[in-house]
Amino acid sequence: MALPDITAAIARACAAAQRPPDAVTLIAVSKVQPANRVAAVLDQGHRVFGENRVQEAANRWPPFCTRYDTIALHLIGPLQGNKARQAVELFTAIHTLDRPKLAHRLAALAQERGHSPDLMIQVNTGEEPQKAGIPPAGADAFIAQVRALDLPLTGLMCIPPAHEDASLHFALLAKIAERNGLPNLSMGMSADFATAISFGATHIRVGTAIFGERPVLP
Ligand SMILES: *Cc1c(COP(=O)(O)O)cnc(C)c1O
Repeated sequence: MALPDITAAIARACAAAQRPPDAVTLIAVSKVQPANRVAAVLDQGHRVFGENRVQEAANRWPPFCTRYDTIALHLIGPLQGNKARQAVELFTAIHTLDRPKLAHRLAALAQERGHSPDLMIQVNTGEEPQKAGIPPAGADAFIAQVRALDLPLTGLMCIPPAHEDASLHFALLAKIAERNGLPNLSMGMSADFATAISFGATHIRVGTAIFGERPVLP
């Protein structure tokens, strides 16, 4: 698929879910993709991109941000405390807040700088030991903790387990967000973004369906 096909598929999924077509933000996940593929998507007018590593994003994006207006970058991968300053300088939104220590670090940076990227909390809906995120049972308390730090918390994010029905995870994430009054849901990737939209996704993270397969790293 290419960008216009994805946009059309999003519009169809929104219509089927009786949601307005602009209810969903498409985040083009450019991690590891060659610069010429990223430039091609920028040339088609797309401006919202996702990266999963701070350093890779810091190397890649500043030249693009000089050449193209109004680029918005979303961090969708784990954030280490020692990369937090670089991350808040680079990203419009961080989807992977997942622990109190990081929340305190981001709050200190927000105090110092007078603003903060929008934040989403990653929830480990599948309770997978190798995966980042707050366990579902701890989500309400962590949400309250982040709010008490006066951080701009806008929603929740999840990455469902690879071999399970993603619907159950999307539904769980939506339920936690709803009972906490959080408007944004970052869920759905190339294989399941239409399903995610039917469960209320506001931010879908789509990589290979837009750019093609990611090159294998050496
Ligand atoms: C890589 C990645 C994506 C995009 O995955 P595709 O299957 O290529 O669409 C989405 N979300 C996260 C967190 C990722 O790391």
